[in-house]
Amino acid sequence: MATDADKIKVTILPTGTMHADLTWLLIDPQRMATRSNPGRQKDWVPVPTHVVYIEHPDGTKLLWDAGVPRDWEQRWGPTGLDQYFPVDEVTDDMWLDSRLEQLDLEPGDIDYLLLSHLHMDHAANAKMWQDTGTRIVVDQAEKDGALSFDGYNKGAHIKSDYDGLELDTIAEDTELLPGITLLRTPGHTWGTLSLKVDLADSGPMLFTSDSLYLRESYGPPPIAAGIVYDTVAWFASVEKIRAIEEQTGATIVFGHAADQMAELRTGPGNYYT
Ligand SMILES: [Zn+2]
Repeated sequence: MATDADKIKVTILPTGTMHADLTWLLIDPQRMATRSNPGRQKDWVPVPTHVVYIEHPDGTKLLWDAGVPRDWEQRWGPTGLDQYFPVDEVTDDMWLDSRLEQLDLEPGDIDYLLLSHLHMDHAANAKMWQDTGTRIVVDQAEKDGALSFDGYNKGAHIKSDYDGLELDTIAEDTELLPGITLLRTPGHTWGTLSLKVDLADSGPMLFTSDSLYLRESYGPPPIAAGIVYDTVAWFASVEKIRAIEEQTGATIVFGHAADQMAELRTGPGNYYT
């Protein structure tokens, strides 16, 4: 009989919650001010972040995304985005370095750091992996875009989060290891990726990161978000995800969904197989 040691293990780790106006996440006419209700209050909602630790039975260890930084106020301050996305609901045990410690891991123990994209709430801790030998993988278009501007930041891309790192790239959907596939789902940024992990007991899980922030974004019909680099590509990526869900029965794990995060098993030791 197969034991857990023969199976891919997935551990979802909450890494701190931001708050933001819902309009950033969901352009929903139902919630907008109107002529008859011009004073409508904006929605200040929780925006949880997470990373995913994946252990392959061949011994390979992977991490999906890198969370938010402890020093977000200093690093995000120059962009002004600290005012829009404060990381104001986090306990010390949730920061990424704490999470690694809880798993008894040093950064260099991770073979692959897979970054869905290089926004400040996903790539901010990437430099923990500088010169560790860990392969850092992003989409080629994301790397090109993220290095294409001068200055401190372009929107939520903060260059110092990732400049100087050796970034390996993919330019098409890529099965990195049996059962672990990076999917190109651009639109939110130049080259946002999603990750599909085929689990023996739980079936496939598809982590969308910011390709889909929320269940409400998914539809059908999909509802776009306040930050989309390429709307046409974003809608196409959503339908790509939907087709994979229909073909495989994958569980879709949204990028910043507080309601879903509360339903999932999370934290060290609470893994899916
Ligand atoms: Zn993003």
